[in-house]
Amino acid sequence: MRTRLMHRNVLQQRVEMGTISTRSRWKKTIEDVDFDFPELSFDDLCFLFLGTYKIKLARTYVEEHLDQEGDYTVELDANTDNILRCTIQSRHSSAVKYKSWIQYSLSGDPIIAWYCTCPGGAVTIGACAHIVSIVWYLSYARHHHFEPSKGRRRIQQAIMERIVVGEDDDMDDKDQEEEDDDWH
Ligand SMILES: [Zn+2]
Repeated sequence: MRTRLMHRNVLQQRVEMGTISTRSRWKKTIEDVDFDFPELSFDDLCFLFLGTYKIKLARTYVEEHLDQEGDYTVELDANTDNILRCTIQSRHSSAVKYKSWIQYSLSGDPIIAWYCTCPGGAVTIGACAHIVSIVWYLSYARHHHFEPSKGRRRIQQAIMERIVVGEDDDMDDKDQEEEDDDWH
């Protein structure tokens, strides 16, 4: 615990000092993510987040967030040490926007550190709802057939039917540079 707290502080420092690369190579909504991230069991999550309470809330949090047409946007940078950044924003309230960072490992301790800019992410021991929900989704839910609510899927289908030309999954560097402006 103490070690994790230290690591978390180091990650926070790196974020605040701007030493994490600003070149995000890849950007997707969390529902479409498909990349190597440690797979955890429910017990692993309980151990990581000190019990079941927040893990149970994570599912509700993700469901509600998606239902409100908010979004998780996950960004990865191949040049950093397996650090992902997730921006969480409600499309209905641009004022509410948090950024969460998670450092993970595919060979050692799976979740090394995390940091979130929300008030809960800064002051609590443990993790805020954003971190728990991201880790829960990436490490567990997507391997266990989690699907967003039916209402959300209907919206997605309606959107898909309107798409005439598919977009390339990979954003090219020119587009990406414009997206990089808000990295700190
Ligand atoms: Zn947070």
